[in-house]
Amino acid sequence: MKKVVTIGEIVVEVMATEPGLGFREPLALVGPFPSGAPAIFIDQVGRLGQPCGMVGRVGADDFGRLNLDRLAADGVDVSAIGVDPVAATGSAFVRYRPDGDRDFVFNIRQSANAGIALDDAARALIAGADHLHVMGSSLFSPALVSATDDAVAAVKAKGGTVSFDPNVRRELLDAPGMRAALAGLLDRCDLFLPSGPELLLFAEADDEEAAVDEILARGVRAVVVKRGAAGADHRDASGIVRQPAFAVEEVDPTGAGDCFGAAFVVFWLRGLPPAEALRYAAAAGARAVTRRGPMEGASTLAELDAFIVADRGAAP
Ligand code: ADP
Repeated sequence: MKKVVTIGEIVVEVMATEPGLGFREPLALVGPFPSGAPAIFIDQVGRLGQPCGMVGRVGADDFGRLNLDRLAADGVDVSAIGVDPVAATGSAFVRYRPDGDRDFVFNIRQSANAGIALDDAARALIAGADHLHVMGSSLFSPALVSATDDAVAAVKAKGGTVSFDPNVRRELLDAPGMRAALAGLLDRCDLFLPSGPELLLFAEADDEEAAVDEILARGVRAVVVKRGAAGADHRDASGIVRQPAFAVEEVDPTGAGDCFGAAFVVFWLRGLPPAEALRYAAAAGARAVTRRGPMEGASTLAELDAFIVADRGAAP
């Protein structure tokens, strides 16, 4: 089986139990949960039984241990997750607004994540990878941009494949060099996994169909657009496949896109046709939103199969 590797931020997430605006009052909180977009992604890859590993960095503290233990328990190779003796594990505080949008307080750039580098353990992990998944949220410093670029080059040089989820953080978008770094990743990826609004950031065109045409013309093999409760679609040279979302009660949308992307990549690497890989991905995304906590709703293959069968049974 092909080995999937990712690189980037690991954080603990603590969230307010009630919606509202910001964090300027005492709040009831729930957590800590293991988190960080690439960590959620790779945890879901591991739960599906695919060989996988992560390049990252945590502090020598309980939040770091929480993340390492969860990833290892789900089958992720954590040999390239360094433990920083000084800096603390990154953190994210999240509160949902009444309109469903989110307020965040991130501590990523000043945390152990800032020390991520392609050391010997990271290079060994990448040397054994068949596929690399990269995310825009991980490009939070020039050092991370350069480590990500080197990892992409190493995996491509040995004939591996790359997926890219822009996961654009608005507060990072205007950082120097960020747009060039995002465009550079787009040009070297095989699979591109944006949300609808993100898609338009990567093309001249101002409608989505023309934007996908432009991106495919740049050499990307397939574009999978995620649209939350409105589903997802897959476009490649042979046409479009649409996948409606499964009907579930949404409890916490954080992590849906990462679990969706992980399932899509796993089944794409296993050679399933796009429609089937997309169905598994949508099932993983739907199950992810039914649990509070970013990676608490990640699924095993048996859970995805049972969910898909139950949905067929429920269809009119
Ligand atoms: P991102 O977190 O990257 O913005 P989305 O929110 O679009 O990603 O979620 C990814 C996928 O997960 C969607 O395309 C859909 O298949 C599934 N999904 C997300 N939210 C829901 C929901 N409320 N109900 C059912 N499926 C969902």
